[in-house]
Amino acid sequence: MKAHDGMYIDGAWRPPAGRDTIEVVNPADEQVIGEVPAGTALDVDAAVTAARRALAGWAATPPAERAARLAALRDVLVARKDEIAATVTAELGSPLKFSEAVHAGAPIAVAGSYAELAGTYAFEEKVGNSVVYQEPIGVVGAITPWNYPLHQIVAKVAPALAAGCTLVLKPAEDTPLVAQLFAEAVDQAGVPAGVFNLVTGLGPVAGQALAEHEGVDMVSFTGSTAVGRRIGAAAGAAVKRVALELGGKSANVILPGADLAKAVNVGVANVMSNSGQTCSAWTRMLVHRDQYDEAVELAAAAAAKYGDRIGPVVNARQQQRVRGYIEQGVAEGARLVAGGPEAPRERGYYVSPTVFADVTPEMTVAQEEIFGPVLTVLRYEDEDDALRIANGTVYGLAGAVWAGREAEAVAFARRMETGQVDINGGRFNPLAPFGGYKQSGVGRELGAHGLTEYLQTKSLQF
Ligand code: NAP
Ligand code: MG
Repeated sequence: MKAHDGMYIDGAWRPPAGRDTIEVVNPADEQVIGEVPAGTALDVDAAVTAARRALAGWAATPPAERAARLAALRDVLVARKDEIAATVTAELGSPLKFSEAVHAGAPIAVAGSYAELAGTYAFEEKVGNSVVYQEPIGVVGAITPWNYPLHQIVAKVAPALAAGCTLVLKPAEDTPLVAQLFAEAVDQAGVPAGVFNLVTGLGPVAGQALAEHEGVDMVSFTGSTAVGRRIGAAAGAAVKRVALELGGKSANVILPGADLAKAVNVGVANVMSNSGQTCSAWTRMLVHRDQYDEAVELAAAAAAKYGDRIGPVVNARQQQRVRGYIEQGVAEGARLVAGGPEAPRERGYYVSPTVFADVTPEMTVAQEEIFGPVLTVLRYEDEDDALRIANGTVYGLAGAVWAGREAEAVAFARRMETGQVDINGGRFNPLAPFGGYKQSGVGRELGAHGLTEYLQTKSLQF
């Protein structure tokens, strides 16, 4: 894996201000696979300055030309998709097939969607005697996590570019290589110098400097609720726009008329995918008491099949954290029916696919985001009880409802306090707004809703 020893600022790879570096580790075998510079406030300042300088020109670029650059970017990502998949597999540890389909596939779809939207979106409209213009918010500071490392970058950069904004990206320290590959792709796509800038580095250093920089008009953050809360508070104090995509503890609600085996199997696959490191994962399965024992048996059998099919979690700290949650689940009285806290392999940061039965809503494992391959199965008495349990966490990012009749599932979904619900196994839609109710975040990503996050409105009266 070839790593750059500089920052991508103002259209070129430039030497960092300091000498510190970050080692990139393959979590599957614990080998160091590269190193990147650890940026400081000076690098962030240089990048923000470049982004500010480029703003007026990019904001004035016709939407059709911005669309053409985004289409070119999508084409570069398509041409380099094998390299993207191999890079994500090396630094995140996900199985290569999953990296190809999701870690490379989703960003290509999202980049393509914004190439289309940039060219078709109505950036001005007539309202009575006014013309209302949608103008770019300005310079965006984007801070992204490691779990879907390229998707989360593209879900911010593509709409920001479509809107006419310029950006500085601080990617996660665990997955900087795919971020460098993305900067190369932006360059190859002919995006003008300074429009997109990359500063690799640590969250509390480079990330914080970016979030607090006066030259940044909007901060878009995806990651933990703890860091998001601080970024939101700082943005509020500075009267800056902020978008926060935070954690989740989503409910998979299986109503009595549903196809139980299908609902359980898809539900287990949803949690085990990406080794459980998905903010929208359905980590709480809610089953009617009459079907509970059967569902637990099905879930345990399904999880056992994932034994050697999932990758490791991203690093040693996350492995410790997830195993700690499993120990806590046992201590609080939940019943292990698959997996457990023991590390399944000597080498690599693996966690066994784990299923807990006899979980009650107030248990830690039913309330907190574990971010590992851990499913909890909860019992409900009736629909009102199921709804109370489904809505009974501080989060509200995603969810699922399964029922015999679609209308019944929809009626239940409309009462859920959450941003997305998949009905009877509905597929991921890259154009559907994605984001949280309650403490799962502020704002929406993807599609036209994701584009408006990067726009502000001006009205002229005639
Ligand atoms: P995190 O610290 O919130 O990381 C997200 C991003 O924020 C990274 O780029 C990180 O840099 C940066 N960051 C960290 N501290 C910062 C600060 N003070 N100011 C500005 N930026 C900062 O998340 P994590 O430590 O990787 O994961 C911890 C937990 O967060 C996970 O177990 C999971 O529960 C949750 N999480 C949620 C999502 C999601 O998609 N919603 C994604 C990842 C994690 P570094 O990479 O240097 O830390
Ligand atoms: Mg962190």
